[in-house]
Amino acid sequence: MHNFTYTANPGRILFGFGTLDKLADEIRNAGMTRVLLLSTPQQAEQVGAVAKSLGDLSAGIFSDARMHTPAEVTEQALKSLKSLGADGIVSLGGGSTIGLGKALALRTNLAQIVIPTTYAGSEMTPILGETTDGVKRTLRSEKVLPETVLYDVELTMSLPVEMSGLSGMNAVAHAVEALYCKEANPITALIAAEGVRALTDALPRIAQDGGDREARSDALYGAWLCGTCLGTVGMALHHKLCHAIGGAYDTPHAATHAIILPHALAYTAPAIPEAMERLRAALKTDDPAGRLYEIGREIGAPEGLQALGMPEDGIEHVVELSLRDPYWNPRPLEREALTLLLGDAFHGRPPS
Ligand code: NAD
Repeated sequence: MHNFTYTANPGRILFGFGTLDKLADEIRNAGMTRVLLLSTPQQAEQVGAVAKSLGDLSAGIFSDARMHTPAEVTEQALKSLKSLGADGIVSLGGGSTIGLGKALALRTNLAQIVIPTTYAGSEMTPILGETTDGVKRTLRSEKVLPETVLYDVELTMSLPVEMSGLSGMNAVAHAVEALYCKEANPITALIAAEGVRALTDALPRIAQDGGDREARSDALYGAWLCGTCLGTVGMALHHKLCHAIGGAYDTPHAATHAIILPHALAYTAPAIPEAMERLRAALKTDDPAGRLYEIGREIGAPEGLQALGMPEDGIEHVVELSLRDPYWNPRPLEREALTLLLGDAFHGRPPS
């Protein structure tokens, strides 16, 4: 056993079908009397129905949450929150809505109840990415951690199948890297292995039938665990490559993760025997990287970075960016091997 540091994040979790019915009790238990409800414009109707069911516990709704938490949207929401006299925050939605709730909590110290409807996992992390004048900055603060998370599988049944698969694989990437990043520790490793097992088992079933309630339940459970990993440890090569590619070519976040993950794992595999043992068990295979590639095919992930619009000469540029400012990785970053890795990922080939 190596030396390690483990910081557990606080938080109360409710999980199941129909847990939304417990929202009013959770609001009262948290000592809130009038909450501001948050959503994106696409989920305005859904959050409206929730507000109605809350009666006087609802102070009002702000349904203009956007991707990447733009500072100007946060300012508008802050004005609404103050004018309505809200004393708590309820966020219903994916990472975009949860990001807005976190940004408000950071500025007001109000408590948050989060009701996640995707597999992105932001609800379990003390991380907030905010965008000001087109520049996204990421901060870590205990202040943005939600106090209560209410997972209601029912609300994820409407998550489109393609988005389910891609955001699920993005979550799997957090757990895979948690097994071998610098901050890896035995507790997070247990959570990570179970998160990978649950999500990778569920995602192909959801791709076959988005209405499979058992699979939806397994996936949300796995997403919770994978989000917990992201909230407790750092990351490694996979995340570096995804940030470099996304930053340079504006490729979609979750799809980039789904494509890169098998390749980053195959690259790092020779240096992480213990993590590979856990992944072989979690994925029920002798070839974890190969299985992750297959799952990408099963969920209909785009065929390589070329399908996301990255140009072929981007391979060299991304290698350069990764070497210039590398993340720690158990296998050091080597120019030639990284070029081969990105070549495979670009053309949609299996990891070599
Ligand atoms: P999202 O929140 O942007 O949602 C995408 C769209 O899907 C929105 O229109 C939303 O309203 C809709 N939607 C969500 N759930 C739905 C459902 N069940 N049925 C139908 N439609 C639904 O997507 P996301 O992938 O959850 O979040 C992405 C954002 O979260 C990014 O900005 C990312 O950086 C951030 N993020 C942050 C962290 C963190 O720890 N800070 C972690 C993961 C993601």
